Amino acid sequence: MLVLLLLLEIFLLVQGEISRSKACQGDAYAETKIVALTFDDGPHPTYTMTLLDGLQERGVKVSFFVTGEHADLHPEVIQRMAEEGHLVGNHTYSHIGLTKSNEKKFRDELAATSELLEKLTGKETAYVRPPYGTWNKKLEKECNLIPVLWNVDSMDWSLQDVAKIKKRVLRSVKDGSIILMHDYFDTSVIAALEIVDELLKQGYTFVTVDEMVYD
Ligand SMILES: [Zn+2]
Repeated sequence: MLVLLLLLEIFLLVQGEISRSKACQGDAYAETKIVALTFDDGPHPTYTMTLLDGLQERGVKVSFFVTGEHADLHPEVIQRMAEEGHLVGNHTYSHIGLTKSNEKKFRDELAATSELLEKLTGKETAYVRPPYGTWNKKLEKECNLIPVLWNVDSMDWSLQDVAKIKKRVLRSVKDGSIILMHDYFDTSVIAALEIVDELLKQGYTFVTVDEMVYD
C-alpha cells in the first residue's frame, strides 16, 4: 500500500512539473515582443550624445545608420556608439541616393564609409540603410552589406513635434517593428526616449537590427 501511495505521489509530482514547464514556455513565448529603433543621418554632436545618455540610463541598444561625412566630423560619437553596444551601420558617405547613372559613385561611397567605420569601431560594417530606401540586390554581394529597411516611419524629420511623432509611432508599432527615426533633431531625440519608456512599459524588448534580421 505504502509503495503504491509513493508511486502515485511520484506520478503526480512528475505531471505537475510537466504542466508547470509547459505553462512557463507558453507565457515566455507570449511575452517576447521585440522592436528595433533605428536612427539615420547622424551623428549629431549634441543630439546624438543626449540620445546616447538616455539609452544608457534605460539599458536600451539601438541601431545607427550614419553618413561617412558626419562620422568624419564627429568620430568620438561613433566610438561611443560602438563602445556602448549599439549597432553602427552604413548610410553612404554624402547621403547619396542610388540612381541608374550613379552606381559606381554609390558603391565607392559605401566602401569609403565602411572603411571609415571599421577604423573607428574596430568592427566590420555588415549593414546598410540605403538613403531613400533605393537599393539594388546585386550590391549585397558586391559590397558585402545587408540592407535594412523599416516598417514604421516616424516622419520625425518632417513633423518635428514630440507629441505627433510619439503618436504616429505608438499607433503602428507591433512585435517585429523596425522604427525609422533621425538623431538629427532635438524633437526626435526627446520623442525617441519617451517611446522607449512607453514600449518598455508595454513589455517590449529592444534589439539591434542584426538580432532582428537573423532571429
Ligand atoms: Zn537618410
